[in-house]
Amino acid sequence: MSKIICLFDVDGTLTEPQQEINVNLDKYIQDILKKQVDIAIVGGSDINKIKCQLNQENLFKKYNYIFAENGLVAYKNNQKLQSETIQSVIGEEKLQDFINFILCYISELKLPFKRGTFIEFRTGMLNISPVGRNCTKEERKRFNKYDTENQIREKFIQAIKKEFPHLLLTYSIGGEISFDVFPNGWDKTYCLRHIEGYDEIHFFGDKTKIGGNDYEIYESDLTIGHRVTGPADTLRQLKILINLINEKKMQR
Ligand SMILES: [Mg+2]
Repeated sequence: MSKIICLFDVDGTLTEPQQEINVNLDKYIQDILKKQVDIAIVGGSDINKIKCQLNQENLFKKYNYIFAENGLVAYKNNQKLQSETIQSVIGEEKLQDFINFILCYISELKLPFKRGTFIEFRTGMLNISPVGRNCTKEERKRFNKYDTENQIREKFIQAIKKEFPHLLLTYSIGGEISFDVFPNGWDKTYCLRHIEGYDEIHFFGDKTKIGGNDYEIYESDLTIGHRVTGPADTLRQLKILINLINEKKMQR
């Protein structure tokens, strides 16, 4: 029997954006899926955010692997694994020039409204929000619409790239109000270095198109990619996968 692990993106895959996981999906994963395969999650957000979205009670016991910040913060069977940091790779000097440029750019940016927390400094990435992260749900939606019409994030990224062409960084637009910046290769494929001993790694994600934060891991040769439209679709595709696994078992 081949050893299988299902690896899930969080936002838009296990949960609706910014919401908590639906009880039925959580139950299906824990009560049915987990009896057949190992399970893991890989989110771009920090660990506290992921805990909130996935009902933090016993989270580390529920999943074989938990990867926050694309796997820069990693837990295997309840144990924290060693990780790198963005400052160790870029260096304090260059990193500060970079942050100063971002703050300067935001200070000159005129939007319909602004809130607070424009840069969130994480272990392996910077999360940059032109409108500020402490938006209400309604303000997120409003900014997202404005961004779609005016390409605020896209233009911001172009300006940064022009200013720092020599820095080997990846820019990834995910979610509604921000984008991530991280060293090349520190996308979600980063977490795959921690996963060992499986014949098949099934990855489920919603932002699998080019430029999306699931694109690299979805396309990776190491994974079997499943593109989903949201939690309901994830559940539907999991049921199909389980049926296939059971059929294979019957054939043996
Ligand atoms: Mg997602």
